[in-house]
Amino acid sequence: MNVLILNAGSSSLKFQVIATDLDRIKKASDERLCRGQVERIGGEAIVTVQNKNGPRRKLTAPIRDVAAALDYVLRWLASDTSEVAEIRSLGDLHAVGHRVVHGGEMFHESALITDDVLKGIEDCIDLAPLHNPNNIKGILAVREIFGRQTPQVAVFDTAFHSTIAEQAYLYALPYHLYRRHRIRRYGFHGTSHRYVAYRYRMLRSLTREQTNLVTLHLGNGCSACAIRGGRSVDTSMGMTPLEGLVMGTRSGDLDPAILNLMASKEGLSPHEVESVLNTQSGLLGISGLTNDMKVLEDELKVHDDRRVRLAIEIFCYRARKYVGAFLAAMGGADAVIFTGGIGENSPMIRGRICEGLGWAGLKLDQGRNEQMVARGEGQISTDDSTLNAWVIPTDEELLIARDTVRCILGEPHPG
Ligand code: ADP
Repeated sequence: MNVLILNAGSSSLKFQVIATDLDRIKKASDERLCRGQVERIGGEAIVTVQNKNGPRRKLTAPIRDVAAALDYVLRWLASDTSEVAEIRSLGDLHAVGHRVVHGGEMFHESALITDDVLKGIEDCIDLAPLHNPNNIKGILAVREIFGRQTPQVAVFDTAFHSTIAEQAYLYALPYHLYRRHRIRRYGFHGTSHRYVAYRYRMLRSLTREQTNLVTLHLGNGCSACAIRGGRSVDTSMGMTPLEGLVMGTRSGDLDPAILNLMASKEGLSPHEVESVLNTQSGLLGISGLTNDMKVLEDELKVHDDRRVRLAIEIFCYRARKYVGAFLAAMGGADAVIFTGGIGENSPMIRGRICEGLGWAGLKLDQGRNEQMVARGEGQISTDDSTLNAWVIPTDEELLIARDTVRCILGEPHPG
């Protein structure tokens, strides 16, 4: 089955096509046929496409909305220029899997999209006003182009965290706020945390029940997850993706009283304050330079700028603090897993986060850490570490493709 995987954002549409089915899942022989993205939707968009054998190609085109972006991508896919031999027409795309950000308390696993499921995703808009509307646009655009007969599946960022217990998901607020408005921790990046936990247990030949990890997804958005017995028991992101670790442009944890202070001192509305926390804080806010960790690292090497150093220190300190907290919360773990653009590519950040974890039994192997190549996978701790450190590149799209197949065939989810 050729599954089109879509991740529709406010001004971008990411896509992949993965060939998979139950047999391929069993043999782990799923095949990625192509991938790409449309950025800066709403104006002169930048389209990046790449088939499995070819180089990455960049094009520009005026694209007004998500539907137009999808139309553009599908035309490319079905054209000769894409050189994706398996796809000659739209009929060769058999199903569509969507990354959906918020599934609220309704969706504990991926779901075949029916009118009821679509309504459920709409009901979660209150919880994710910036994200779910874009995901819905993507689903409707597919319906418009393919018709209802092409099955679509929603894979929720929140679903993996639905196993978190009340003590970890409730905030210490008046309880009626939870009852009335469902104010609680939901957590995000669930598909990524779930993937690296799955991959780790495959690599180590463990059962799900034997899988005890702290996973660190460090990309533009960053989150930590405590995984016990293969299930999420706590995570750093909260009601929204703003809580927890320091991120590219998000602040992560702060004293909630600061919001009012910022509003009154800076003359900002609550909405504007939240926007500062989401878009002007984190690495960008502290460094005053960029949200891009690679650029910060290069800058540190060349100029040793104080605020760049500070941004990196605060980022690593917060991540280490969460690792410690989650180790305490879950009574220890077998390994810390690094993933996401920073986690996969930056030996320096991994080193700095691991530096203070000797007390927990984590001894970093400097050579292994430095020599881990891009997209590389493996252990970076010494063989006598009692808490291991691993790098595992994330692959959310693979799980979305597999969930899509399983949902369509009514197969039980592996979790
Ligand atoms: P997203 O969360 O948008 O998917 P990614 O997971 O691709 O983002 O992560 C992007 C982050 O990864 C950026 O901060 C980028 O600078 C960082 N990154 C990528 N490569 C490196 C590298 N070699 N060294 C340090 N940081 C890197």
